[in-house]
Amino acid sequence: MHPPVAHENDLSTAELLRYSRHLSLPQFGIEGQRRLKQARVLLVGAGGLGSPAALYLAAAGVGHLGLVDFDRVDVSNLQRQVLHGTSDVGRRKTDSARDRLHDINPHVQLEAYDESLTSANAMEIVAEYDVVVDGTDNFQTRYLTNDACVILGKPNVYGSVFRFEGQASVFATADGPCYRCLFREPPPPGLVPNCAEGGVLGVLPGLVGMVQATEAVKLACGIGETLAGRLLLVDALRMSFRTIGLRRDPACPACGTREIRELMDYDELCGVGRGVADAGEAGDDAPLEITPRELHARLERGDALELIDVREPYEYAIARVPGARLVPLGTLERALPSLDPAHEMVVLCHHGVRSAAAAECLRAAGFRRVLNLAGGIDRWSAEVDPAVARY
Ligand SMILES: [Zn+2]
Repeated sequence: MHPPVAHENDLSTAELLRYSRHLSLPQFGIEGQRRLKQARVLLVGAGGLGSPAALYLAAAGVGHLGLVDFDRVDVSNLQRQVLHGTSDVGRRKTDSARDRLHDINPHVQLEAYDESLTSANAMEIVAEYDVVVDGTDNFQTRYLTNDACVILGKPNVYGSVFRFEGQASVFATADGPCYRCLFREPPPPGLVPNCAEGGVLGVLPGLVGMVQATEAVKLACGIGETLAGRLLLVDALRMSFRTIGLRRDPACPACGTREIRELMDYDELCGVGRGVADAGEAGDDAPLEITPRELHARLERGDALELIDVREPYEYAIARVPGARLVPLGTLERALPSLDPAHEMVVLCHHGVRSAAAAECLRAAGFRRVLNLAGGIDRWSAEVDPAVARY
């Protein structure tokens, strides 16, 4: 006689009914469901990738879900962040997520962290989980998540999307490579536009986020063959899915040489907040940036400033700073003869990335007094004029 199988009792009758399609699944069954219930999965970000991942991981019966997100729901998120609804606009994403996930599956315990993942809290938070799902949209958090996972030995289910293309992999397993094996250092600031500036097809993070959810379930249950050592490349326009082999780089400072033993300042690593002067472009001490409040004060004072908005016409139609002239970045060179080098200029865009490039271009063309509006029109709206729509 076999002793009674104690762990079967871990699932209540309500759970057995709910998960019946898993219980009859070969290679999964009640043991798989039990492992899923015991699993602790951390989602970094409740945005485009985190939304589908969270919905499916909760529905599947992951026992403990952690969710890190400091942001609030914005109407421009709803095109892809399906965890949140129209009635959630303005709410904290963690609150919105908690309601939705509880409705999908009340058996899931959700731990919400209404904060950014930082060097100060990452080790403590990541240590609580078995699997991490990286749904971040910025390089600072992506390198931070990678390093914390490597140091703590937690598998890191990576995903990223841009425009019509996506990538996914599983990093930081016992033998597999990590994100730094692929991308040792972040790209120079401003070179890679984010989703807000580059755009993203709304269904694409759904595809990639669900690949991540699938990998997280497999890791939690110990079934199948994960993407560790492979990079999945998704092209939504051609609808092609390709995988390329990845190897651990023995020289990788995170998982190879293990030089990285503790977390660092990731803003510094990724050049966040670094003036263009640090890139060695400025020959004199002239300021290169202006904050929205400083600009407002100078305009109020009546200073003669020429405002150049380098966004696209559809963005200008949504929101504009009064008096700004629209010169989309792609047309800037052609517009140069129409600009007066004697004038002091302030260039602006959505978040300050494209306008930094425009400012460089103007300086290179001999314009001596060019300031980039730090944080763009979005920060202008937040700090100076809330009547200017955010998008
Ligand atoms: Zn590595």
